[in-house]
Amino acid sequence: VTHNLVDYHVHSVSHGEIECTEENVTAFLESARKRNIVHVGFTDHEQFLSKVDYSAILRGSANVPEVSVRVGVEVNYFPERETKIHEFVNSLKVDYVMGSVHNIGDWAFDNPRNLSQYDKWNIDDLYKAYFDRIRMAAETGLFNIIGHLDIIKIFGFRPKRSVMDHAMPALEAIRRRGAAIEINTNGKYKPVEEIYPSTELLGKCFEMGIPVTLGSDAHVPENTGRDVEIAARMAKDAGYTKVAVFTEGKMDFLPL
Ligand SMILES: [Zn+2]
Ligand SMILES: [Zn+2]
Repeated sequence: VTHNLVDYHVHSVSHGEIECTEENVTAFLESARKRNIVHVGFTDHEQFLSKVDYSAILRGSANVPEVSVRVGVEVNYFPERETKIHEFVNSLKVDYVMGSVHNIGDWAFDNPRNLSQYDKWNIDDLYKAYFDRIRMAAETGLFNIIGHLDIIKIFGFRPKRSVMDHAMPALEAIRRRGAAIEINTNGKYKPVEEIYPSTELLGKCFEMGIPVTLGSDAHVPENTGRDVEIAARMAKDAGYTKVAVFTEGKMDFLPL
């Protein structure tokens, strides 16, 4: 039995389709409670933060006292927007900031509507471009957590060189900057049908001393905590004995 399951990647307003009300927040947290999650972190995308009602989160949280609630944000990192991202992150008062890469330039490569654009890339060049952005995101030092580390595999396109070769400079930057990674279970429900990151990358992260946390990337209440038990198992199999949690910008650990 695993103790201290956490879910640090939950989108309370989805992509704007869900209202941040006490009732909806309670539904997210009830789903977490049923899956024995002890911490839930809401990480709405920065462009939807204006829709997040912090008083509704507090009221919802009071309805489910078994679950500790944290508030963060998922920032879409673009090297082209670095100055703006610095200003934005420094203006936030949140428990943690997750930095994720969803775009190469104006191409949102994780959106199935943009699938045809993969044809324009040599997949090794694409993995290099993606992990370069992860490296740059980590090097800003702005992020407590790097989101879905190898989401570039989402549609199952694989490089010829090893992913580890492409990812190493990014992992070094993450380690240097003291950020955590997350085990994000949402990849299981994407075409690649694999949790992010791969067991190989996760093993390397453990070896390097990079902390780990867990996330479902839920955009609806019923997915909160989904497969986080499996993610915890993966973490333990990689050698981890503790999971990273975040309060007011500080990382702490709970035993796994
Ligand atoms: Zn994301
Ligand atoms: Zn997300």
